[in-house]
Amino acid sequence: MGPLRADLLKKELSIFTYKDLLDHFPLRHIDKTRVDPIRAARTTIDYIQVSGTLVNSQCLGEGRSRRLVATLKDATDELELVWFQGIPWIQKQLVPGQTYLVFGKPSVFNGRLQISHPEMEVLAPAARPAGSAVLEPIYPSTEKLKAKSMNGRQLGKFIRQLLEALKPADLPENLPPGPLEKFRFPSRFDAYQSIHFPATEAAYHQALERLKFEELFFSQVRLSLVRLERNRHSRGVVFSQVGDLFNDFYRQHLPFPLTNAQKRVLKEIRHDMGKGSQMNRLLQGDVGSGKTMVALLSMLLAADNGYQACLMAPTEILARQHYESISVLLKDMPLQVELLTGSTRAARRKPILERLANGEIHFVVGTHALLEEKVVFHRLGLAVIDEQHRFGVAQRARLWKKAAVPPHILVMTATPIPRTLAMTAYGDLDYSVIDELPPGRLPVQTVHRYDDARASVMDFIRTEIGKGRQAYIIFPLIEESEKLDLENLMRGYENVKAFFPEPKYWISMVHGRQPPDTKETNMQRFVRHDTQIMVATTVIEVGVNVPNATVMVIESAEKFGLSQLHQLRGRVGRGAEKSFCILLTGRQLNSEARERLNTMVATNDGFLIAEKDLALRGPGDIEGTRQSGELALKLADLVADKKWVEIAGELARRLVTADPELREPAHQPVRLFLLSQKGKLAWSRIS
Ligand code: ADP
Ligand code: MG
Repeated sequence: MGPLRADLLKKELSIFTYKDLLDHFPLRHIDKTRVDPIRAARTTIDYIQVSGTLVNSQCLGEGRSRRLVATLKDATDELELVWFQGIPWIQKQLVPGQTYLVFGKPSVFNGRLQISHPEMEVLAPAARPAGSAVLEPIYPSTEKLKAKSMNGRQLGKFIRQLLEALKPADLPENLPPGPLEKFRFPSRFDAYQSIHFPATEAAYHQALERLKFEELFFSQVRLSLVRLERNRHSRGVVFSQVGDLFNDFYRQHLPFPLTNAQKRVLKEIRHDMGKGSQMNRLLQGDVGSGKTMVALLSMLLAADNGYQACLMAPTEILARQHYESISVLLKDMPLQVELLTGSTRAARRKPILERLANGEIHFVVGTHALLEEKVVFHRLGLAVIDEQHRFGVAQRARLWKKAAVPPHILVMTATPIPRTLAMTAYGDLDYSVIDELPPGRLPVQTVHRYDDARASVMDFIRTEIGKGRQAYIIFPLIEESEKLDLENLMRGYENVKAFFPEPKYWISMVHGRQPPDTKETNMQRFVRHDTQIMVATTVIEVGVNVPNATVMVIESAEKFGLSQLHQLRGRVGRGAEKSFCILLTGRQLNSEARERLNTMVATNDGFLIAEKDLALRGPGDIEGTRQSGELALKLADLVADKKWVEIAGELARRLVTADPELREPAHQPVRLFLLSQKGKLAWSRIS
């Protein structure tokens, strides 16, 4: 394909290589020989394939609402076809009077049934013998690709070309013979052919099962190798004593009694850090469950034993907040705490690096900047990673290398994951959970409102501000259409400003496109209560702590995932006052969005929400697991394919335990495949 299309494929679908294209699996197959009557079109069905005569086509509307409208007619009824993009090109292709095969999702606009941006082809007369199904793959595509005539069908043509050019040696077998025989899986080469262009439905299902198994098997082999690698380095710093720093702080500076769950987790951590091997622990706890205090107390244990500790957060804002709250808590303690982020100026950075290297600094709080090679510790004993989901195994491994003996690692996440999934996704970590909120928390009251009630929502915010409270108003910012979303945000901001004019009210605005210091200034103004309203995108999603804020309004709430909504809601309800979360949406909602909103209204329990999220979206979407690459499942579903999860996981663990170097002849396919996976983790053990 030409460079323009190739570029678009990279941008829109992250398809860079032939392998990426092969891994662009079809959403479903349709039987091409099956044609529905137009009369059967309903908005409730996902896709329909009809054939009919094109009776007319014309351009309507001006500017943004300009569109091309055509009518397709068969013996039973007629249907409108609409295009909003690529109009001149499409108009040239359309021939009135011609018979077309048309495929797409029916929708209703202005009371008329239509398909927008349908996939069309001229119907060849008497294409196939009657009665034989021809399964044609339908691929996910995007609006931008479709506008460049790279719809799902066109993608299929590229994939077919590619598959025709491949030889079995291009897709060598990667599973050991055992499971291949036992489950009668097709070969890898055949599986790729059949997942895209199956001869029969049965062939498709066999291919699908095999590729799911493969995916799960390799994700577990990788994690097992990581666990093994860690055990090889298992010599760990021994924190043998609880000393004065911990005890003084605990007795004199702890601002509140710990919850039982916090105490229990702290005990688990203390035990781990005292036994002589490296700790790698995942700490889960709902938003507001008090993970930071557990982290701080663990860091004090490190200091008591003569070691340094670092706390790493995913954003500048969050790192600064941690730094400030820890500094306040430790202000009467003989401990040096510093902040180090990407925007720390050179003049400040230099002495910090020196004092870290010579051991003067006890605790450093920061962002990814802490991973840089220039950051050298005197004696790093503990690394705490907050909001773990943005850090993968590889990044954790970079921390181990910062000390002769690998430091203990505590990863904390506020995106609860059901236990079984946590074990699979983070199979290389031990697991603790804070399952109790500090006493006296008032649950956040959540409601769902339609856009047209916005004025009364603003009135409500005004009342809360009148009582001295503050409010967040969150807009979605989704990368795919970042520019459009930014426009939305700006319009939203102007809108909010019209309701809350200066100088009576002041508004902060924070979004991802701002330079860090602008972000920081706006954030700080809200923290200091110089502004009453924070208009923001999800940059404030994690960790931000402003206890005086009692209202969280989420605009276009249907665009957010459940765990994201839960995270956002967690920004309120942090103080003594009752808090509210208002989910705003339009009236048109699909059933899944409605279910998400209902779940949010019904419960505040992060673990319940996580399970619901899992059921609705599947774990492939759990934030971060995809980015971190360890559980980038494209086909398998940890819930629906539980059987394979268990079988493949067990097999992978057994294999790695029995033959850690992957030397046995039967394991060569596995070894060679892992070695061919460049860009994944490099396995020093296998060579
Ligand atoms: P998260 O687990 O979401 O990171 P934080 O550590 O930010 O939660 O804690 C949320 C709030 O609860 C903070 O203001 C913190 O000071 C407070 N907090 C933590 N532990 C307790 C406790 N045992 N009793 C009362 N308040 C607590
Ligand atoms: Mg936190």
